Amino acid sequence: MTTAAYKSGVIEVAENVYAFIQENCATNAGFIVSDEGVMVIDSLMTPTLAGRLYAAVRNVTKAPIRFLINTHFHGDHVFGNQYFLPAPIVAHANCRDELMEKFDGNMQRYRARTELIPELDQIKMTLPDVTFEDRMSIRLGDREIQLSFHGRAHSNSDILLYLPEEKLLFVADLAVNKTLPAFPDGHITKWLTVLEEVAKFDADTFVPGHGPVGDRSDFDDAVELLSLLNTEIRRGFDGGLSEEDTVKQVNVGRFADFAGQDRVGLITRMAYLAYRGELR
Ligand SMILES: [Zn+2]
Repeated sequence: MTTAAYKSGVIEVAENVYAFIQENCATNAGFIVSDEGVMVIDSLMTPTLAGRLYAAVRNVTKAPIRFLINTHFHGDHVFGNQYFLPAPIVAHANCRDELMEKFDGNMQRYRARTELIPELDQIKMTLPDVTFEDRMSIRLGDREIQLSFHGRAHSNSDILLYLPEEKLLFVADLAVNKTLPAFPDGHITKWLTVLEEVAKFDADTFVPGHGPVGDRSDFDDAVELLSLLNTEIRRGFDGGLSEEDTVKQVNVGRFADFAGQDRVGLITRMAYLAYRGELR
């Protein structure tokens, strides 16, 4: 399955607000610039990628990096943390815990791609040091950035960054674009509940953790796709089918050209655990 080409690189999504968009639905990041400094949103996975992100910031501004945000604990978003010190690292309290407790598993997942091992060997666990529970507001210059947590979803530490003036949301992996979502920690039914909350934000621009910058219709697609997956998998579960048989009958309909079609197996396994009440 090939991913359709889309606009990648550094994209100014609002004045002084940038999305760092990778090709092929690899991991995205972002940064917000003011005269007083810069907020970087996620640090990517390897020294090379973190270096590219840092260079992209420096290409726009020489202002100091004031804050690094971690949108959730997955290594492809946060293993580059050490390269943005001494900026404080801001995240949900669960992100610090998950990053610490699941560090080895988190790392092993990416080490399966053996060409990455020399880079991953350079990563030191670098934890968020400013954490919050439900909401936090950060002022950067004259801009307000609202951080919020809405519950277990793609992980147990997914946060949103909302720019109310710009009607812009950094949704990270809560709503990826043009790809099936990654599910190593996903709780499908709780995730759908969280997305009902995300949908209430007055936003026109959505910067996803994977895939191109989107608008409201792209966000709605992400919700519809997850809802469709839940319906399809639940039908198999309720019909007493094995996971293997359910995987064979899942039909993603108009989303068949999205990337990540090989994720249906893991999504089904995690959904079965969720339906049985076996996921925390
Ligand atoms: Zn993730």
